[in-house]
Amino acid sequence: MHELALSQGIIDVIRDQAAAQGFTTVKTVRLVIGTLSHVEPQAIAFGFDAVSRGTIAEGAVLDIERPPGQAFCLSCEKPVPLPERSAPCPDCGGHQLMVTGGEEMRVKELEVE
Ligand SMILES: [Zn+2]
Repeated sequence: MHELALSQGIIDVIRDQAAAQGFTTVKTVRLVIGTLSHVEPQAIAFGFDAVSRGTIAEGAVLDIERPPGQAFCLSCEKPVPLPERSAPCPDCGGHQLMVTGGEEMRVKELEVE
């Protein structure tokens, strides 16, 4: 399961940070999961709950940011919102779009003790 592997990746990041910074408890994990990424926030929350057991991140609250999709339209020569990956430009209806935002999936911040 894709999301379980990603959740494990988040735990690995936390473990590395804990080793580097010396904290022992994680209260909140702030994630950024773009709306165009192929990641389900609910599946991440479920996977995280499972893989965090017995780690310093057990019981941590997941705070998930969902930045919207964004693209640069080559026809309009300006940035436009992109609700889904295959959507046309909302202004000109064209498909000459370069995705510029909303695909990210990363750990933004850890609130620790
Ligand atoms: Zn356009």
